[in-house]
Amino acid sequence: MGRAIAACVLAERIATQLQKRVLIVEKRNHIGGNAYDYYNEHGHLVHKYGPHIFHTKSKPVWDYLSRFTTWRPYYHHVLAVVDGKKVPIPFNLNTLYALFPPRYAEKLEDLLLDNFGFGKKVPILQLRESSSGDLAFLADYIYNNIFLHYTQKQWNLKPEELDSGVTARVPIYISRDNRYFQDPYQAMPQQGYTEMFRRMIEHPHIKVLLKTDYREVINDIRFDRAVCTGPIDEFFDYVYGEMPYRSLDFRFETLDQEHYQEVGTVNYPNDYDITRITEQKYLTGQVSPKTTLVKEFPQVYIPGRNDPYYPIPRAENRERLALYLKEVKTLKGSVLFAGRLGDYKYYNMDQAVTRALGLFEKEIARPLVVS
Ligand SMILES: Cc1cc2nc3c(=O)[nH]c(=O)nc-3n(C[C@H](O)[C@H](O)[C@H](O)COP(=O)(O)OP(=O)(O)OC[C@H]3O[C@@H](n4cnc5c(N)ncnc54)[C@H](O)[C@@H]3O)c2cc1C
Repeated sequence: MGRAIAACVLAERIATQLQKRVLIVEKRNHIGGNAYDYYNEHGHLVHKYGPHIFHTKSKPVWDYLSRFTTWRPYYHHVLAVVDGKKVPIPFNLNTLYALFPPRYAEKLEDLLLDNFGFGKKVPILQLRESSSGDLAFLADYIYNNIFLHYTQKQWNLKPEELDSGVTARVPIYISRDNRYFQDPYQAMPQQGYTEMFRRMIEHPHIKVLLKTDYREVINDIRFDRAVCTGPIDEFFDYVYGEMPYRSLDFRFETLDQEHYQEVGTVNYPNDYDITRITEQKYLTGQVSPKTTLVKEFPQVYIPGRNDPYYPIPRAENRERLALYLKEVKTLKGSVLFAGRLGDYKYYNMDQAVTRALGLFEKEIARPLVVS
């Protein structure tokens, strides 16, 4: 049993490779998890749970998904509003020139090239440790004007309170490449994510039970094995307490104008309660005289009230996760865990696919041995 991307991959593998029957149990009224998309009343393909851009370094993941979709080439661009100007993000050499007088920007560029080299991505917290006064100034500038407030809004924590892996997602990129991602494979599923998932699970051995919490049916179903891609703490009735998450409120708006902003996403690190506005058309490619926006308002996660979107990667949460992982061992492989919520890991879609493919190869394709 399972639900979203990881669930679709596992169901597809189990049905086609092992010829076994799979039941997907999902409490929402649709498949696809947070990558679900649909056409709104204006004919715009929108991402119900926030903008999802597919990007990966992994050829196996790309090849696997390409069996179920064709792709629309798309490079995501992001601008951030800083000091009243819209500048490229991640902060790169073009951003320097957009924010500072040319002579000073040139000086900073030289320093960055000398200290780190062209093409390097340097986490802001690392740049802050620089011995050069000008680079330390630059790091402080980026930290205070772009990083600090955005992180506080997004996570309700200071950057230092999160694992370095999260903060490394916002580096300074010593390059003139304004694309948000540099992965070799970047594209959007031509007919959307939901259609891609629908094709993955279109198999006579796969059945889907929507609008059902798996906990309501788990005792009524006979199964060899279950895969839980819902929250790991929920599975164990929160015996060690709740794993914290960050939630979001997505507000959609359709405007009677062809375009609203210059690029797919504009971040608001300092202004308003929102973190970012995404104009869906850029991602999904519709041509229309109207345009649909989604604004993201970060929220505290309250179980039963809103959805757990982001696991919060930090030391104290890893300690609690370790307690749950010990419980997983006692199940001796009869229930496996995968996905953002099952593994409590800040996966991108490609990582959720990698995890599911790996789990299938290592744990599921092999017979279960209970000692
Ligand atoms: C705002 C946002 C933007 C993102 N942008 C990107 C991006 O641009 N690129 C990218 O690669 N990744 C992005 N991601 C990450 C991406 O959404 C995840 O990597 C991916 O969806 C993980 O899939 P999953 O299989 O772990 O399941 P999830 O998508 O986490 O879905 C889990 C499913 O389990 C269901 N469920 C939970 N509990 C139960 C229960 N008790 N019973 C039944 N069903 C249950 C939920 O309803 C949900 O449908 C983004 C995530 C968010 C939140």
